[in-house]
Amino acid sequence: MNQERQALLRQLPGVDHVLDLWEEAYPARDLPRSVVVASIRKTLEELRSTILAPDETLDDASFSDSELLRLTERTVNKAMEFNLKHVINATGVVVHTNLGRSLLPESVSRHVAEISSRYSNLEFDLEKGARGSRYTCVEDILCEMSGAEAAMVVNNNAGAVFLSLETLARGKEVVVSRGELVEIGGSFRIPDVMARSGARLVEVGATNRTHLADYEGAIRDDTALLLKVHTSNYGIVGFTSSVPLKDIVALGAKYHLPVMKDLGSGNFVDFSKYGLIKEPTVQETVAAGADVITFSGDKMLGGPQAGIIVGKKDTVERIKKNPINRALRIDKLTLAALEATLHLYRDEAEAVSAIPTLSMLTMPAKVIAAKARRLRDRLKKLGNNRLKVVLINSSSRVGGGSLPLQELPTKCVGIKIDGLSANRIERMMRQATPPVIGRIEDELVVMDMRTVQNEEIAVIAATFEKILAEK
Ligand SMILES: *Cc1c(COP(=O)(O)O)cnc(C)c1O
Repeated sequence: MNQERQALLRQLPGVDHVLDLWEEAYPARDLPRSVVVASIRKTLEELRSTILAPDETLDDASFSDSELLRLTERTVNKAMEFNLKHVINATGVVVHTNLGRSLLPESVSRHVAEISSRYSNLEFDLEKGARGSRYTCVEDILCEMSGAEAAMVVNNNAGAVFLSLETLARGKEVVVSRGELVEIGGSFRIPDVMARSGARLVEVGATNRTHLADYEGAIRDDTALLLKVHTSNYGIVGFTSSVPLKDIVALGAKYHLPVMKDLGSGNFVDFSKYGLIKEPTVQETVAAGADVITFSGDKMLGGPQAGIIVGKKDTVERIKKNPINRALRIDKLTLAALEATLHLYRDEAEAVSAIPTLSMLTMPAKVIAAKARRLRDRLKKLGNNRLKVVLINSSSRVGGGSLPLQELPTKCVGIKIDGLSANRIERMMRQATPPVIGRIEDELVVMDMRTVQNEEIAVIAATFEKILAEK
């Protein structure tokens, strides 16, 4: 280390010195002392690593009292903010797993707030005046909507698949097509979940083609389950063939074997009515006769994170009795959100307009274009000639590992600012309050208006006003 850097390190003051500065500067700021002290430590540590970083240049001014106070204040403010916060999703990915997947409808979040801040009949039967089951509130409506005999809910669909396999096939064999050995993000893979559940995977067919005879040829004394997995996040196209669920159900009946379908996303609305690619609905899957069907609460369903299991009464009862069920149980906030979301589905038109995931997926092009024009006009009104704004056509994505081949034509607002690179603008937007998450396309920062909510348009304009004032 050169002498200059050593000299700078020696100049770095101690925590007590900065604490005195702070208390003198802000005698009235009522903050937890632990936060202030930790923030001062962090600020000094950051300065120390800057001094030691080979390409950084610092001078004495970096340790002036006013600069130390400014840096400390920035760290304190950051520490007082929530880490989990609202961001504006301008990526156009509707079910964005990194940005919270599904947004709850207003009426649903109001119900969650009410149930969570008051006592409720969570496990109390108001008719009998005795202990009740925490799941009754959603089981009946799930059966009503899906046509299934029984229903239950766990923490997420990964949990639902695991619990079902563990209950029905531990120590036994499960027959699955080679074309359906799905991996979804975050390390959920059918073969791995199967191994953890204690069930043995028996792969049949080829990647692109599997026939009924392949399933039948794999059935042995040890076979406990026939499993179909929806290829929710990829498509196999070309010379392909897979066996329809109802044929597998007939095969299962012949050999007295239960049949399970992991639907992945799971939806009660037939999206092909709204111009999207056909996905099997939960109702159709129940009607095809599967014994167990599992799906997510927060993918295309648009509710809270949950894993829903519907199916035949005796099979679902066995899964419910598995002691692991308790470890996967959902809390009352999720239950409240799920029940309120399911209620909206009783009227499909209402579901499609009130559930944000559904309304964004089915949003007419002219509604998106109108949002794009509103943002463009607001940005133009800032009257800053460094800012260039254009409207461009692009394609949104469903996301959440659903409908990977679906094209969703959309309208985006593209931004350039003289003197700032696209990467720089993207970073400033991401670090704004609230953060605005867009993407970069050909040196242009692009905001897809499909996933931007109406009330966020003014907020984005204000963010750009600040960015332009800063740099
Ligand atoms: C998404 C998905 C899962 C996991 O669902 P989570 O709700 O994310 O746990 C399981 N199987 C398939 C086929 C999926 O698409």
